[in-house]
Amino acid sequence: MDFELSETELMVQRTAFQFATKELAPRAAEADDDPDFARRSAELLARHGYLGIMIPEEYDGQGMTGFDYVIAKEQMARACLSTGATLGAHNLAVYCIMLMGTPEQKERFLPLLAGGERIGAFALTEANTGSDVAAIVAGATRDNSHYRINGSKQFITNGGIASLVVVFAKTDRSQGHRGISAFVVDKESSAFGVAKEENKMGIRGTSTGQLVFDECLVLAENRLGAEGDGFKLAMMVLDRARPSVGAQALGVAQAALDAAMRYARERVVFGEPIADFQAIRFAFADMATRLDAARLLVYRAAKLASAGKGRFSKESAMAKLYASETAHWVVDRALQIHGGYGYMKEYPIERLYRDQRILEIYEGTSEIQRLIISGHLLK
Ligand SMILES: Cc1cc2nc3c(=O)[nH]c(=O)nc-3n(C[C@H](O)[C@H](O)[C@H](O)COP(=O)(O)OP(=O)(O)OC[C@H]3O[C@@H](n4cnc5c(N)ncnc54)[C@H](O)[C@@H]3O)c2cc1C
Repeated sequence: MDFELSETELMVQRTAFQFATKELAPRAAEADDDPDFARRSAELLARHGYLGIMIPEEYDGQGMTGFDYVIAKEQMARACLSTGATLGAHNLAVYCIMLMGTPEQKERFLPLLAGGERIGAFALTEANTGSDVAAIVAGATRDNSHYRINGSKQFITNGGIASLVVVFAKTDRSQGHRGISAFVVDKESSAFGVAKEENKMGIRGTSTGQLVFDECLVLAENRLGAEGDGFKLAMMVLDRARPSVGAQALGVAQAALDAAMRYARERVVFGEPIADFQAIRFAFADMATRLDAARLLVYRAAKLASAGKGRFSKESAMAKLYASETAHWVVDRALQIHGGYGYMKEYPIERLYRDQRILEIYEGTSEIQRLIISGHLLK
């Protein structure tokens, strides 16, 4: 596999780097305290065309590949993980429609998502179940030309700002995971509530909401795929999206490494910059090496997922698992190199430390990635 970036990919990377440096980095620290941060992020992403990055040009998007998206997201996460996560949740909804939408559904929804008239979200998790998707209890009952959705969804990224949510609900409770169906719930025509905005440890510049569907009427023509296709769709989407969580991990880890190297050159202890101590230099060597290994795994998975051929579920899980755990390790090392200042809010490393922690949890915990990988190994 060729890991050299093409001319186009280099341009995507450069443009995203410039966008992240100019537009995201200067506001990243506001993520912790500004309740309107996520909405402003979405507007910014829309203005720069990023909400439609993967949407084909015929639906008013940028027509770029899943690999381009991963490269761009890595640069964004380097500046602001919250904004990267806002884009990630939007794109989970985009993936659902691109993968299982009919031409008519694509025509109706993708241009709205590309332009930012709709902000997307992906609502699978419930209060009593996250990892065990088959155990969801939200239900959808057919009522002539509509479905009635009842239930609530927990920890939904973009929950408080989303106007188009792909909701997973049981249409047949006797069928386990085969009884789950997926619906595009457009806030314009279907009412749902946001019961709670979560108060989080990190990525505080994202909106994480509990969504409540109470006799929520959704047109039958908004169902994605056939009844019972919902579980398959969720897994297809997560397989494709996990490399982009890996890209978020690369971005935040790179930011931490850069910050630690800057700090180590300036901080003088025992009469010399700490960057001159061998223990610190070796730490940088280890951090950079693990980060590069993670990048290769993420790029491999993203290339496979982007090509869409064959199976890449294992590679995708490996990329997410290794990159997120590497980000945790690298950011922790980088904080240690900052000494006491690393523990203070004046230095961005404190926020990076809190922000990175989500990467081992959402879109499947590290334990679930290990289940997927070992399942492939032992089958
Ligand atoms: C900030 C944030 C944003 C999120 N955004 C979204 C979103 O946009 N959409 C959405 O649908 N969900 C979202 N989630 C939910 C997230 O995907 C789940 O929290 C995650 O999948 C874990 O589910 P859980 O919290 O129910 O943990 P549980 O499933 O209850 O797991 C608890 C612990 O047990 C472990 N565990 C579970 N099963 C096994 C097993 N078989 N073997 C070994 N260990 C196991 C888990 O790894 C975990 O450590 C978000 C969560 C957070 C915190």
